Amino acid sequence: MPKIGVLAIQGDYQEHKNMLEGVGAVTKEIRLPNELEDIDGLIIPGGESTTIIQLIDIYEMRNPIIERVTSGMAIWGTCAGMISIAKTLKDKRPDPLHLMDIEVSRNAFGRQIDSFETYLDIKNIEGPPVRGIFIRAPVVTNIGKGVEILSEIESGKPVMVLQDKMLATSFHPELTDDTRIHEFFKNLSSAK
Ligand code: GLN
Repeated sequence: MPKIGVLAIQGDYQEHKNMLEGVGAVTKEIRLPNELEDIDGLIIPGGESTTIIQLIDIYEMRNPIIERVTSGMAIWGTCAGMISIAKTLKDKRPDPLHLMDIEVSRNAFGRQIDSFETYLDIKNIEGPPVRGIFIRAPVVTNIGKGVEILSEIESGKPVMVLQDKMLATSFHPELTDDTRIHEFFKNLSSAK
């Protein structure tokens, strides 16, 4: 069984932990750099990306996270987590980890529909469409060569993307009772 860490400094990490336990993964709350050493995957949860990045830097986690991902650890960012792992942002703040070859725009669905739900067809996820909960969600505005779009809405707005062992979702699977995407990430974390 893979051991999956959840960055537990801000945001809805407890919900991710519960979901991971539901799919039988071993979980670990991550708050300090040395806690990254023995995990196969890391989730950066939803929350507030400027706060998450500020705390990552205060706890000196930036380089350790980048190094672990570069040497094959899986990573999944949901919502603020997607913003945190992006290569570039349309916005001035925060300074992301520049990991995944995507450009992301924060709060991209505008004020009127800043939170909404919709059902998503997702490549590689079998069964009925997945319930997508979007809360002041980001959208991917550009992707690099190695990035695969697994789901998009209004065609042309990617909301789930994969690059090697890096996964990002604009929405919050951890706020539903559907564990299929956590199962997908568990498998990604076990992959060599
Ligand atoms: N809008 C938030 C941000 O920019 C993300 C919201 C969320 O994670 N639900 O960081």
